Amino acid sequence: MDEGTQNAQKANTDERIETIEKKMEDIVLKLSRGRKKKKDIRKIEVGSIVKQILTNEEYTRLLHVCDNSEYVLEDKFIVRTMLTIGFRLGEVVHFKKCWVNFDQKTITIPAHEPCNCGYCKSQLKRQLKRIGKSKEEQESISEKEVMNYYWQPKTNAGVRVVYYGFDSEYEMILNDYFSKYDGWPGAYITAYRRIRKLLDLAGLQNHVDHHLRKTAGTNYAAAGLTEHQLMDVMGWDDADVAREYIRLYGPRSVESQKKVLGEGKKKGYISDSRIALYLTAFGRQVLTRRKYRDEEEWLRDVLFSKKDDTERKITDY
Ligand SMILES: [Zn+2]
Repeated sequence: MDEGTQNAQKANTDERIETIEKKMEDIVLKLSRGRKKKKDIRKIEVGSIVKQILTNEEYTRLLHVCDNSEYVLEDKFIVRTMLTIGFRLGEVVHFKKCWVNFDQKTITIPAHEPCNCGYCKSQLKRQLKRIGKSKEEQESISEKEVMNYYWQPKTNAGVRVVYYGFDSEYEMILNDYFSKYDGWPGAYITAYRRIRKLLDLAGLQNHVDHHLRKTAGTNYAAAGLTEHQLMDVMGWDDADVAREYIRLYGPRSVESQKKVLGEGKKKGYISDSRIALYLTAFGRQVLTRRKYRDEEEWLRDVLFSKKDDTERKITDY
């Protein structure tokens, strides 16, 4: 056997050993996972939303930090646009004056806002990677190409119209901001860092920028927006997300339960003797029949001996 063949055989064996080792690792991993599952105490995870929402106290603290900030207008604009209106950070950064209808108090997020900032460039690169373009192709995109595609909302549902007239304070911030700027004066990363800084100053290190948007979502749900209205205003494609927000934060169902069931009027159902009043003659016969008698025989008797009488009762029942 020559050396080449020997080497090839050795490589082949090594490869087979490696495959077997990998398979054994997988088996051990699977077994350990199974065991772990059995040992775990069942724990209900109530979505991931709850921990991410700012409490009223945290909300106030963050706004207080903005009020005392060096860049008070800019900071209030970013924070409130996310926290009150529910914008994503990418939307805040690309938010242009022409999106606002100051008479109707609405903001229209378009399908396209030409931009070639660093953030937009990286978003396009990411898309090129996803559709399998080579590294060279990703690197060689021109600024014009970036502009052709970006900026665009995260999803189709991101193209939307939102009303802001419900918050007069936000309205003032918006008016002040757009009398000074046509759009965010810095880069995406600057806005991101500003929020991090403000959260830090407010002692909210457990929160990230996206939590502001989620908090807005829960406030909308608490205000009573329906599933579809919530999807529209938040720019969500997924109805499940909206339903979860409403289930957790919507106006509690107690009010509607009271409406249907009344308050203190009806007592327990089955234990209430008056229930007998609602039974048909046949129902009463069933309830008052002699016990220990053969059920089938009894039923046959009732149904066929007084046929005319019971037939009508059965239909009533
Ligand atoms: Zn951009």
